[in-house]
Amino acid sequence: MDIRKAGEFGFIEYIKEHFDVPEGALGIGDDCAILPSAEGELIYSTDMLLEGVHFLRTAASPEDIGWKSLAVNLSDIAAMGGVPVATFLSIALPEEAQGEWAERFISGYAELSRMFNVPLLGGDTTSSLRDVAINVGVLGCAPYGKSARRSGAVAGHSIYVTGNLGSSAGGLQAILKGWEITPEVSSLISSHMKPMPRLSEGQALLETGLIGAMMDVSDGIASDLRHILKASGIGASVDLDSLPMADELRSVCLKYGQDAHKLAASGGEDYELLFTAPREIENLLDFPVYRIGEIVPGDSLIWMWDGNAMDLDIKGFNHF
Ligand code: ADP
Ligand code: MG
Repeated sequence: MDIRKAGEFGFIEYIKEHFDVPEGALGIGDDCAILPSAEGELIYSTDMLLEGVHFLRTAASPEDIGWKSLAVNLSDIAAMGGVPVATFLSIALPEEAQGEWAERFISGYAELSRMFNVPLLGGDTTSSLRDVAINVGVLGCAPYGKSARRSGAVAGHSIYVTGNLGSSAGGLQAILKGWEITPEVSSLISSHMKPMPRLSEGQALLETGLIGAMMDVSDGIASDLRHILKASGIGASVDLDSLPMADELRSVCLKYGQDAHKLAASGGEDYELLFTAPREIENLLDFPVYRIGEIVPGDSLIWMWDGNAMDLDIKGFNHF
């Protein structure tokens, strides 16, 4: 196995083959691991953010990096329909980040922590030779046997997302390409810097009892939906023209000659929820959800435009 050839997900498969999972537990392969407990199920997820890979210290404020480190982890709890219980923060800091930078990082983390009332209960701190490295772990809970998984999609289910796609990717483009800061561009950058984990939405979706499969959009629906399809052993057709997009994304893309639909389909880090369910779920929710396609027999992902299948191979984000 060579990660440079097998890719991120090939390596994860390789790791998975080397370890047994205890009876009744769910291990590698979903947004969170699940462990049955006396109280219900414990769910746990951990995500790493590395300077130069996930953020640039020159482009993002320490507060935003603190916020995002926690947000992406809470989002994995949201993806299971769970309630976050506690977080753990491990951080490696080079000398220049050991003063004000570290204080401001913690203030961003604490702001989101307070918003969702999730305490930070532990972690680890070390120095680093060059880059900041951050790892957050989140423990959550869900009713026994009820956590939403990636594996429950069945033919006939509709596919939904809880909000706009592509804004975060648009914000990242704006930062990398140095687009002029207009109100539209700054709203996209803010989607990229300060994603909001959809915790209450995830819990409400779980409570309907109608969810087939669910996950959060971290790598872009082109990649993330494939995970649902693989875990569920089923196919999907997605209407590219029905992907919800912010007006700001449409207008900025028009101005800079970018394909907004492609960003919406392949751009990561929106942290909206992607789920499958029968259509009746639409009548049970007090927040908007957007229907983007349906689960169909087979094992492929078909992109549709105006009712016609397109010959497209859209890829999401893969680390290698
Ligand atoms: P997410 O985007 O939801 O955080 P990832 O794509 O990062 O999920 O990971 C997919 C699955 O692989 C998860 O279940 C995660 O716990 C597992 N995983 C990723 N890297 C490792 C690793 N180094 N060791 C064990 N499990 C891993
Ligand atoms: Mg996830």
